[in-house]
Amino acid sequence: MDISVVVPLFNEVDSLPELTAWIDRVMQTNHFTYEVILVDDGSNDGSWDLIEQLSLQNPSIKGIKFRRNYGKSAGLYCGFAQANGNVVITMDADLQDSPEEIPELYRMITEDKYDLVSGWKRKRYDPILSKNIPSKFYNWTARRMTGIKIHDFNCGLKAYRKQVVKSIEVYGDMHRYIPVLAKWAGFKKIGEKVVQHQERKYGVTKFGIERFIRGPLDLLSVIFISKFSKRPMHFFGLYGTLTFIVGLASAIWVGAEKLIHTFNNELAPRITDSPYFYLSLTAMIIGSQLFLAGFLAELNSRNSSERNSYLIDKRTSIQE
Ligand code: UDP
Ligand code: MG
Repeated sequence: MDISVVVPLFNEVDSLPELTAWIDRVMQTNHFTYEVILVDDGSNDGSWDLIEQLSLQNPSIKGIKFRRNYGKSAGLYCGFAQANGNVVITMDADLQDSPEEIPELYRMITEDKYDLVSGWKRKRYDPILSKNIPSKFYNWTARRMTGIKIHDFNCGLKAYRKQVVKSIEVYGDMHRYIPVLAKWAGFKKIGEKVVQHQERKYGVTKFGIERFIRGPLDLLSVIFISKFSKRPMHFFGLYGTLTFIVGLASAIWVGAEKLIHTFNNELAPRITDSPYFYLSLTAMIIGSQLFLAGFLAELNSRNSSERNSYLIDKRTSIQE
């Protein structure tokens, strides 16, 4: 099979007939063998009944239904697990992404040998203040922090070599940073294609104000995980030890001062009168806490079943 189109959706009943018909038209015109995997993320607007109908009419349309709303990342994850096509394309269900982009995306993966091609909504039809400006900022930061030179990390329209989607695990709200996950998994050839973008035709956006909280937090995790997840001790251990040493030195200083005064038979100020006393206490406590956090994180990452996953890309005659 040439192409799997994975579409996560939540309450998009009005868009689905148009979307699936359009995808089918593009696939027929270009003679692709394909499947569409519609992942219903706990819709309550009758999307699932429609998906069942559509899949009876067209065997290329497959549906997965979640018991409740788990989020776009979960939808993508399950869609990826089911995908059979050599090229996997993701797109939003709301008709903001155009299926006409599929042939060129497919060509970029198969002929130009990209691992991942991300859409770039250069001209974007979304609210300026709530979407466009914040997303410029996130993208700029993500670009700087991850070294991946693309402009639109969170574009719903993306194409992948099959092996990529089978090697990454999209969780939480990490669908915003899939190119980063792909890069961690060792897929380096990440490209970009300017894509058409439309205004939402039916329904409403599913990402409200909480994106302003989750977006930056996820960006932090991305940055932090990319730098330290495999070796947390190098971060926590280093800063923990440094802080502890500062605290210890300061404690020694306070103690020594007291002793010197005592030896000289002078009236020494009380240790608790010195600000260094409190500083040293705090620094030693924080230092050991950091160290401990690093140690626990280290144990945790060593126990992770994923610590050595996906090391191998290709092999010769060795049996799998
Ligand atoms: N979506 C989903 N689960 C959710 C929220 C969104 O599957 O919990 C789907 C949604 O149906 C759409 C895609 O993710 O197909 C992108 O969502 P939306 O268009 O609301 O985001 P926006 O374009 O406003 O960023
Ligand atoms: Mg949308």
